[in-house]
Amino acid sequence: MADDLKSLLPPMKRMKKNNTIHNAKPVLDSQTCNQVLKVLKSGQLTQGKMVEKLEDRFSQFCNARYCAVVNSGTAALHSALYAIGIKHGDEVITSPLTFIASANAILMAGGKPVFADIDGKTFNLEPKKIENKITAKTKAIIPVHLYGLTCDMDEINSLARKYKLKVIEDACQAHGAEYKGKKVGSLSDIAVFSFYATKNMTTGEGGCVVSNNLNYIEKIKMFRHHGQSLQKRYYYKDLGYNYRLTDILAVIGIEQLKKLKQNIEKRQSNAQFYNSFLSKIAGIQTPFVPKNHIHVYHQYTIKVNQKVYGNSRDELINELKKNGVFAGIYYPHPIHTAPHIKVFGYKVGDYPIAEKISQVILSLPVHPSVKQYEIKKIANIIEKFRC
Ligand SMILES: *Cc1c(COP(=O)(O)O)cnc(C)c1O
Repeated sequence: MADDLKSLLPPMKRMKKNNTIHNAKPVLDSQTCNQVLKVLKSGQLTQGKMVEKLEDRFSQFCNARYCAVVNSGTAALHSALYAIGIKHGDEVITSPLTFIASANAILMAGGKPVFADIDGKTFNLEPKKIENKITAKTKAIIPVHLYGLTCDMDEINSLARKYKLKVIEDACQAHGAEYKGKKVGSLSDIAVFSFYATKNMTTGEGGCVVSNNLNYIEKIKMFRHHGQSLQKRYYYKDLGYNYRLTDILAVIGIEQLKKLKQNIEKRQSNAQFYNSFLSKIAGIQTPFVPKNHIHVYHQYTIKVNQKVYGNSRDELINELKKNGVFAGIYYPHPIHTAPHIKVFGYKVGDYPIAEKISQVILSLPVHPSVKQYEIKKIANIIEKFRC
């Protein structure tokens, strides 16, 4: 590690944690620290060459033509909705089981979030449930590749063609995931990613939009900089925001991207290792991966069937916690029940599968730093707690 940086860090003893296992842990190496220092010393702190380089590398990684980097996944969603022309009163269909940003971005663009229920096995939007939510006002669908598993994109894209809708993939949890041999980022009109600290690759805060449509990406590059023309400074074509990422953070993304494939493989082998133990425990359902989908395990999410397992999901979470294991729930409340979204007329009971699933799911630590002996320990706790 660079000496200048070492002096800024607390002594190792204080950084050392006890035996707890957390659900997320970003890994930053000394090369990353050196690169950040280089940017700091260069004096070019805001959006510059490093942002451009990250855009080139990330679009290459996705096998897509273009990329625009912004300062969060939420900004990426808002920008993508702007690019496809979502306006006040337009309806956009998404999943009720996702991070709130998927719906908040629709509101930010002036649209109305509409939900279709999920498939209880994949946790993703059920294509069959989308069609009867389509009205004359529907303009787009946002499938969310939840936990790192791609949605049924052929079915969703064909619905979009039939009703002349745009498709924005919320790939915030799915960097590197694949569907029928194709990487996320080139499966629909436009795809958005998050580089938040817990995601499969990070810049601390950050995000990007990927597309094969140059027009969309140029619009987003204006939108992230107050609508300023890409040719002429201080010439504004439309309302925009400050959604720029700094070069300080972009350089972290460039380093993270170099390790992404290796980190995904680690997540996948951790998931397989969990499967080898947990699939034998009655009442525990391990993640389902349909044929032709490659899961990148942003989360490793199991279902607890209380009738068979004996204890409830919440009891199991407490038991894990007592043993120093921090499992997560993504997400404990389907988003149609949030107060600012409920006002559109949604109520408990509208999306029964998402509501049921949110009460039985549990995500176990699967990040690249989790060791096999830790997985064994976690599996042991789960097995012993069955009654
Ligand atoms: C993280 C996430 C977002 C938002 O990304 P931020 O970078 O936190 O703004 C949106 N959608 C999903 C599904 C996410 O997981």
